Amino acid sequence: QEAHAAQMERTFIAIKPDGVQRGLISEIIARFERKGFKLVAIKLVTPTKSFAQKHYHDLKERPFFDGLCDFLSSGPVLAMVWEGEGVIKYGRKLIGATDPQKSEPGTIRGDLAVVVGRNIIHGSDGPETAKDEINLWFKPEELTNYTSNQEKWVY
Ligand code: ADP
Ligand code: MG
Repeated sequence: QEAHAAQMERTFIAIKPDGVQRGLISEIIARFERKGFKLVAIKLVTPTKSFAQKHYHDLKERPFFDGLCDFLSSGPVLAMVWEGEGVIKYGRKLIGATDPQKSEPGTIRGDLAVVVGRNIIHGSDGPETAKDEINLWFKPEELTNYTSNQEKWVY
């Protein structure tokens, strides 16, 4: 337990407007929560298009970039930070492959989505993007710092 007292890995997870509109917030949060990951920040926000362009800046050369940014800014997004050992990589595993036609059953996209343009959830793809995305979406004071009773049983 002591070994985990230092800050653990964090990732940025967002439920996109389609996931929010479809009433999948509780279903998605439950999967991260039951796994043993810890929620450290959460807010419901409608990003502007220019904010969406910042979030997806790595994809600006892709043909779907404009439509993707229109979509992300089309309604409320549930922005979250989750913490835990290996949460960046394992979070992506819980989410499943980008194209829901290829996501395994049992994953969020595999179970709950059908097409790549409406794949309901975002998760950071590595430590650098996790740091950048957390800083883009959250102010430092919005990140909580608390001990959950679960921790001594998960680790
Ligand atoms: P991921 O969200 O799995 O990290 P990418 O970073 O490659 O996937 O792409 C970001 C988002 O762009 C995807 O989640 C999806 O919503 C959208 N996207 C990716 N590829 C396509 C595509 N071929 N057509 C339409 N939208 C796409
Ligand atoms: Mg990505």
